[in-house]
Amino acid sequence: MPPAETTVTLPKAEIPRSWYNVLPDLPEPLEPYLTPDGQPVKPEMLAPIFPEALIEQELSPKPRFDIPEPVLETLARWRPTPLTRAAGLEKALGVRSRIWFKNESVSPSGSHKSNTAMAQAYYNKAAGIKRLATETGAGQWGTALSIAGQAFDLNVRVYMVRISLEQKPGRKTVMNLMGAEVLSSPSDLTEAGRKAKAENPGTLGTLGLAISEAVEDAASRPDTNYSLGSVLNHVLLHQTIIGQELKKQFKAGGIKPDYLVACHGGGSNFGGMAVPFVPEIKDGAKISLIAAEPESCPSLTRGKFAHDFGDAAGLTPMLPMYTLGKDFQPPAIHAGGLRYHGASPIVSALVKSGMVKPEAIGGPELFRYASLFARTEFIVPAPESAHALAAACMKALELEQAGKPGDIVFVLSGHGLLDLSAYEDFINTY
Ligand SMILES: *Cc1c(COP(=O)(O)O)cnc(C)c1O
Repeated sequence: MPPAETTVTLPKAEIPRSWYNVLPDLPEPLEPYLTPDGQPVKPEMLAPIFPEALIEQELSPKPRFDIPEPVLETLARWRPTPLTRAAGLEKALGVRSRIWFKNESVSPSGSHKSNTAMAQAYYNKAAGIKRLATETGAGQWGTALSIAGQAFDLNVRVYMVRISLEQKPGRKTVMNLMGAEVLSSPSDLTEAGRKAKAENPGTLGTLGLAISEAVEDAASRPDTNYSLGSVLNHVLLHQTIIGQELKKQFKAGGIKPDYLVACHGGGSNFGGMAVPFVPEIKDGAKISLIAAEPESCPSLTRGKFAHDFGDAAGLTPMLPMYTLGKDFQPPAIHAGGLRYHGASPIVSALVKSGMVKPEAIGGPELFRYASLFARTEFIVPAPESAHALAAACMKALELEQAGKPGDIVFVLSGHGLLDLSAYEDFINTY
């Protein structure tokens, strides 16, 4: 008999009713966003592309924000998400540590992105906006926003990085099914897209370039706003529902985590898991926060801390973050959601202060752990999430060697059922 699985579930009544804002609790205040000529960005400069409520959330020192009732109702369709003990995986690894995963793959889009997509769609609708423009790398964010567009009656246009569209045509089908328009980026519809194509006709696109296209689209139409699925403070704010649920689940399940692990692309699932624990870590709690990033796009471990643009064309404010440079072209690894040159300013500040440890994960090991998880837990992990689960497995093995088993918790940020080309390559290669 395989070992019994344990799942810590919470009743609907336990869904957190507010989001936690880490800004006032950071070890040092966040440096301001800057314009290209080095001036601090004023809130009103963001108004052409974001609704007022989200601009407030981006910059506010308020400790908490109430979750609006319509957003709560939508989140309650799949939240609280389960925290499950990966007992099969533990056994296969031969470790005594307990490994737990917070399963964000149960959302409508199959990833944590739905947590912020619903909130962003709500605030834009409430501000009288009719249409959202966005980019998508791997496709999860575009899918989440397309669904949120249906939930809150908004048109959605998605600029999808060309390489991802070619690798995962099924993603476009889902977004089209959900009523969204999907364009291959770079496109001919924006200045940024036309310029990139003229300079490099064969370009496969980058997330930074797709962001430029979506920002330009939104800035040029009064009925349209821009929506971003990661990086920014308000996105991490919405994702704090993950860490807040975890706290309740730790209490309910008698879990004292030694390691909290999540993958890091732009920082939203990692930040959403981690920042609610910042106050207790400042008070001395011994919890290690591990951000698992890909070796091929290592912004936190190899990037430099600087003000840099969030996009390739330089249309966004310059954010204080770890960055590989806005022109960095990551190789075509299959974790599309982790191919971003920068990082969240909040996560960057926590890395800089030493409160978060980044680790670069890659190579065939990554997919070996992913397939071990699939075969023992019966869930196909998203390639992005595989970085977190591989890091968690390695921690469990380290603790075993040291003879000090503990509790290791990672976020399964999404499932990989629409990312099968990555697994096909792996199966054919190894
Ligand atoms: C987008 C995505 C990521 C990476 O984005 P973060 O903002 O770093 O969380 C990770 N996992 C999945 C499943 C994603 O869709």
